[in-house]
Amino acid sequence: MSKLTSINPANNEILGSVKIATKDEIMKTVAHVRQGFHIWKEVSLEKRGKILLKAAELIKKNAKVIAKQISLEMGKPLTEAEDEVSGTVTDIKNTVKIGLKVLQDEVLVPRTSWLKYEPVGVVALIKPWNFPLSVALNALVPALLAGNSVIFKPSEYVPLVTDMWVKLLWQAGVPADVLQVLHGRALVGQMLVASQIDMVSFTGSTAVGQEIADKCALRLIKFVLELGGSSPAIVCADADLEKAAEAIVRSRFLNCGQVCCAIKRVFVERKVSDKLIKLLSEKIKKLELGPLVSASQLKKFEQQITRGIIQGGRIIVGGRRMRDEKHIHGFYHEPTLMIHVNNKMEIMRQETFGPVLPVMEVESFDQALKLANDSDFGLTAAVFTKDKTKISRAGKELLAGSVYINTTFACPAGSPWTGLKKSGFGTEGGKHGIWEFVHKKHWYVQR
Ligand code: NAD
Repeated sequence: MSKLTSINPANNEILGSVKIATKDEIMKTVAHVRQGFHIWKEVSLEKRGKILLKAAELIKKNAKVIAKQISLEMGKPLTEAEDEVSGTVTDIKNTVKIGLKVLQDEVLVPRTSWLKYEPVGVVALIKPWNFPLSVALNALVPALLAGNSVIFKPSEYVPLVTDMWVKLLWQAGVPADVLQVLHGRALVGQMLVASQIDMVSFTGSTAVGQEIADKCALRLIKFVLELGGSSPAIVCADADLEKAAEAIVRSRFLNCGQVCCAIKRVFVERKVSDKLIKLLSEKIKKLELGPLVSASQLKKFEQQITRGIIQGGRIIVGGRRMRDEKHIHGFYHEPTLMIHVNNKMEIMRQETFGPVLPVMEVESFDQALKLANDSDFGLTAAVFTKDKTKISRAGKELLAGSVYINTTFACPAGSPWTGLKKSGFGTEGGKHGIWEFVHKKHWYVQR
C-alpha cells in the first residue's frame, strides 16, 4: 500500500500520512458515487441547500482546528488561515442563497415549455493546496447543490485538512456515496480524469489544465479550468501612492506570494516611480512571511529569482532563501523587491508563485496598458488612478477576467471568477459558476 506523507513546511517534520488511491479503487469509487448520484439528484434543491448550510455551520464551529491544520500543512500564517475559514463559511451561505434561486425551473411558455437545470452526473474536482478549504468548496458547494455527486482529489500537500472538512460535510448529511475523496499525486489525478466521470472542475497550473482540457475534449465531457495568473497593477502618476503601495504589498505577499491573482507585475509611471518604490521597500522590509509550501516550490522560485538577476533585474529588498537557525529547516524565502525589469524577462512572463514583486517604470498609461496585456495570462488586473477616463479605459481595454480600480481584489457575493487566455476556461462564483455544473434541458409539451 503506497502512502502519501504530509509535511509541515515550517520545519520539514512529518504531520501524518494517507493512503494513495489505486486504479482499481478509483474505478470502484466512480461506480459507487454514480449510484449515489441517482438518489441525490432526486433530493429536493431545498433539502440539498439545507444540508450545505449545516455544513457551513459545522465548519464555523470547527474553525479553529481547521485553520490550525491549514497553517500546519501548507504554511500560511494562522490569521490568514482563519480568514480563509470564515470567508468560506460566508461563501457557502451566499452560494446556497443564489443557487436556490437560479436552479429553479424557468417557465418559457406557460404549461408548455420549461428550462430545467439538470445535474451533470459524477464530477471530478481536482484542486490545489494554496487555499485548501476555500478553493475546494467554491466548486464543491455549487456541484453538490445542483445535484451532482463529487469525487474530490486534493493536492498531495494538504491531505489531512481535506479529510478533516470532508468528515464535516458527511456529518452535515452529504451522503458518503455522493462525496468521496481520493488521495494521491499527479498520477491519481490523471487516472481520475481518464475514468468514467462526466465532468472535471480543475484549479491549478496552466500546464496541467491544458492536459486536462485535451483529455476532456477527446471524450467531449464538460470541464471548468481555473488556472495560473500574472496579474498586473498599473500605478498612474495621479494615484494615491500610499494606498497603492499598501494594496500591492498585501496582494503580492499574502500566503507567501502563492496566490493565483496576486499582483505579480507592477507598471508605474516614471514621474512617481522613485516614490512608489520607496514606499514598497519600506513596507516589504517589515513583512514576516510563512514558508513556501514545499522544497520543490522553493527551489523553482529561487531559480526564477536567479534568472531574474541574470537577465538584468536588480534586487533592492530580500532576494535570498532564509538560512538562519529559526528558518533553515523550513522552506522560507525573504520577501523580495526587484527593479530594472522589463516585460521580456522570465520573471515577468512566467507565473512567480512566491514572494517577489518586480516593478517596471513606464512612460505613459498607454504603454502600461499595452505591457499589462502583453502576457499569456488574463486572470485579474488592477489600476490605481483618480482619472475617470483612465478608469473607463482600464475597464474596457485590460484583458482580464476581473478588473479592479484602486484595489487589487474584491469578490462580493454573486461576482463571477473567470480567467481569460491561459488563466482559465469557464467561470466560478455567482450564478454562472453554479450553472457550470448543470445541463440546461428544454422540456416542451405539445398542447
Ligand atoms: P498543480 O497543477 O501542480 O496541481 C493541482 C492539482 O492537480 C493537484 O491536486 C495535483 O495533484 C493535480 N495534478 C497534477 N498533475 C496532474 C495531471 N497531470 N492530471 C491530473 N491532475 C494533476 O497546481 P498547484 O501547484 O497545486 O497549484 C498552484 C497553481 O494553481 C498556480 O498556478 C495557481 O495560480 C493556480 N491556482 C489558480 C486559481 C484560480 O482560481 N485561477 C486558484 C488557486 C490556484
